[in-house]
Amino acid sequence: AKREGKNNIQFYSADLAEEMSGFYRMEQRLKLALERDEFVLHFQPQIDMASGRVSAVEALVRWNCPENGMVPPLQFIPVAEEAGLIGAIGEQVFRKACAQWRAWSDQGFLLKMAVNVSPLQFRDDAFIGQLARLLGEMRMPPSYLEIEITEGVLMGSAEKALGKLKALRDMGISIAIDDFGTGYSSLQYLKELPISCLKIDASFVREIQTNGKNLAIVKTIEALGRNLQMYTVAEGIEEQAQYDLLKDIGCTMGQGYFISHPMAAEKLEPLLRKLMT
Ligand code: C2E
Ligand code: CA
Ligand code: CA
Ligand code: CA
Repeated sequence: AKREGKNNIQFYSADLAEEMSGFYRMEQRLKLALERDEFVLHFQPQIDMASGRVSAVEALVRWNCPENGMVPPLQFIPVAEEAGLIGAIGEQVFRKACAQWRAWSDQGFLLKMAVNVSPLQFRDDAFIGQLARLLGEMRMPPSYLEIEITEGVLMGSAEKALGKLKALRDMGISIAIDDFGTGYSSLQYLKELPISCLKIDASFVREIQTNGKNLAIVKTIEALGRNLQMYTVAEGIEEQAQYDLLKDIGCTMGQGYFISHPMAAEKLEPLLRKLMT
């Protein structure tokens, strides 16, 4: 048994070492990506269900890696968080999102810009100050910025998170709860936090036409939002039938491949032109 244990430990260490050097390589590569400005944003429209018009876009980060092509966020955000690089990446994301908002505004596309914020980035005490400076620099009224947070932001020090969210709200920034219903939801926080929007997770939207439970959950989230004076965004709409059903249920906004995939800013402009007028 002793021998076995020893072997297990050696086996484990070898594995760990391999994993660590993979992690270390990725960490170094991400640092270089920051220096080389390899992070890019794609934008996905959110449309007003009643009018069919685009009223907002969500910024989604990608790593435009010369060796591996466009790397999706779920492949590097967790490493960036672990390596303490998410703050720096997040700052670039906000800078690019606000710069694009400025450029679109100058072209006459007046849209709300939604930006994802990692819990670790949100916890940084410099976060709000950075955001305030950036908005000033870009001459972007805070009411055009929405931050998307997940329920994970509230774990740990909920008191501190509440203080920060109130500060953001007082600045005029709006706050959406992303992937609503998939985390450690509590109705208590919905009562206390200055939230303006619930994003209904794609996992509930996916089989809404055939899965009665999903339908019931989506209807309930919509009613919850409406009764609390929040608006709702249904995520992951892929088909006309889903769109029609969600519109009937009364979701305020919709987002998904059926409307548009996330795209580089220039590629999205023809659609914006079509769906804004
Ligand atoms: P999310 O915030 O829930 O974003 C929605 C994801 O669903 C995006 O994946 C989007 O491309 C995808 N999507 C949109 N419509 C559809 C659809 O109709 N069907 C399907 N199957 N998928 C759809 P993406 O861009 O790969 O982003 C994944 C996650 O990475 C995001 O989930 C978000 O949690 C995170 N993320 C993205 N950008 C950022 C960022 O700038 N900062 C941080 N901290 N996280 C980010
Ligand atoms: Ca999001
Ligand atoms: Ca989401
Ligand atoms: Ca998600």
